[in-house]
Amino acid sequence: MAKKDRLIQWLRDAHAMEMQAETMLSRQAERIENYPALKARIEQHIQETQRQAELVEGCLQRLGADVSSTKDIAGSGTAMMQAMGGVFTGDEVVKGAMAGYTFEHFEIASYRALIAAAAEVGDRDTQRVCEEILKQEEEMGSWLAAHLPEVTQEYLRREATGARAKT
Ligand code: MG
Ligand code: FE
Repeated sequence: MAKKDRLIQWLRDAHAMEMQAETMLSRQAERIENYPALKARIEQHIQETQRQAELVEGCLQRLGADVSSTKDIAGSGTAMMQAMGGVFTGDEVVKGAMAGYTFEHFEIASYRALIAAAAEVGDRDTQRVCEEILKQEEEMGSWLAAHLPEVTQEYLRREATGARAKT
């Protein structure tokens, strides 16, 4: 397979990953009631995620690739997303924040690989776009790392006092 074709395939995977990220984040945001900082940060990242999907689509278009078929392609994030879908139990907000943290790092790995692939192909535009997206994923990952402790502790306090803690 030519390098460029492999790059296109990985961009399609990234596009599918962003579509799934949007679905997962939207579902989380609409369910959270008692953790306003987390809800606000997720809502911000939904906006970023929608833009990321558009940017990846732009890369595919520049490369002359068909974008319309990307929705049907199962991204490499799919299996993980499905695995995570099953963990939402009584401690949903904590498990959700953990899953979000994991997912951001999967995205970080994906864009690091894409940056290297774009460099290898000599596609400077795709490289630059992926670097821009990578920064947003790192910021979201860092935010979740920094706030997971307080979400966890707030959850425990609410649960211990009989307050609604789940979301
Ligand atoms: Mg993303
Ligand atoms: Fe992300």
